[in-house]
Amino acid sequence: MDIWDVAIIGGGGAGLTAGLYASRANLKTCLFEKISTGGQIALTDDVENYPGFPEGVTGPEVAQKMEEQAKKYGTEIITEEIMALQEKDGKFVLKTAGKEYFSHTIILASGASPRKVGVSGERELTGKGVSYCATCDGAFFRNKQIIVVGGGDSALQEGLFLTRFATKVYIVHRRDKLRGSAILQERAFKNQKIEFIWDTVIDSMHGSNKLEFVKLRNVKKNQVRDFNIDGVFVFVGHDPETKYIGDFVKLDEKGYVIADAVSFETSRKGVFAAGEVRTGAVKQLVTACGEGCAAALQAQHYLETLETD
Ligand code: NAP
Repeated sequence: MDIWDVAIIGGGGAGLTAGLYASRANLKTCLFEKISTGGQIALTDDVENYPGFPEGVTGPEVAQKMEEQAKKYGTEIITEEIMALQEKDGKFVLKTAGKEYFSHTIILASGASPRKVGVSGERELTGKGVSYCATCDGAFFRNKQIIVVGGGDSALQEGLFLTRFATKVYIVHRRDKLRGSAILQERAFKNQKIEFIWDTVIDSMHGSNKLEFVKLRNVKKNQVRDFNIDGVFVFVGHDPETKYIGDFVKLDEKGYVIADAVSFETSRKGVFAAGEVRTGAVKQLVTACGEGCAAALQAQHYLETLETD
């Protein structure tokens, strides 16, 4: 039976850094990623706050370099989705649709995925005017008018990016105060192409083959109006990617993995969690990478205790 020392689930900043550290420590390391590596960073246009890049760096570029670096030391990337986890005869079993993999330790680094607004028409119009990734879809909206939903850093940063293509970007926020950082707020307020629509939510999205209009509701006045628009970009936070975990380790009430912020140990010995999937994580690339590194070092210590037992 082929047994990995470290099996990492998720190929974002946390997972790829865990891979780099584990494989560089000569541990037999694999990393599962269901589609492609990079995680949320691959969906980000410009990364301005990752140390070492004073001019900024694009998300896809930094993600690709991280993958290259992890592979260079031996991390094997397996493009399969983990469906369930088990512990059997002192080993962990990682189940995909048609296969089982075995490992002495697991690092959960599956991150989080973009949350939907959750209104009628949204699902049907995704890819037909509704998007969750400005880097991927922004160029389709050249000379068009778009809405960005949300008031956090993602909405502001991606809204600013989208002004490169769109003639007008309406940021629709459910309150009259933004959650995003001061520097991004300042830039968004200064940008001539951005207009804020405060205290407003989208009630529904409409269009036959592509998005044509949305119903906007002012939550203070409870007034609804039709609003013609070419695109809607949704940035209303994230939900953890933890369905496959079930009750294998303890999760918090929102579904994030409970793990110690120093040892990164979960409720199950030999299983660690790093990055945005962990409850209480600071959701930044640099901290995700730091946690991935720390979790890999902890996995290494744990493996040493197994050898001496
Ligand atoms: P976030 O900070 O959780 O903000 C989500 C925004 O969406 C909030 O303004 C929230 O409104 C709104 N919202 C939530 N559910 C909604 C719904 N159902 N309908 C309408 N609006 C809804 O999420 P994020 O912006 O994706 O950021 C996530 C984390 O990543 C943060 O810690 C952020 O700092 C970090 N991040 C950092 C950078 C950077 O450093 N440049 C870039 C991107 C993200 P309320 O304000 O009313 O709650």
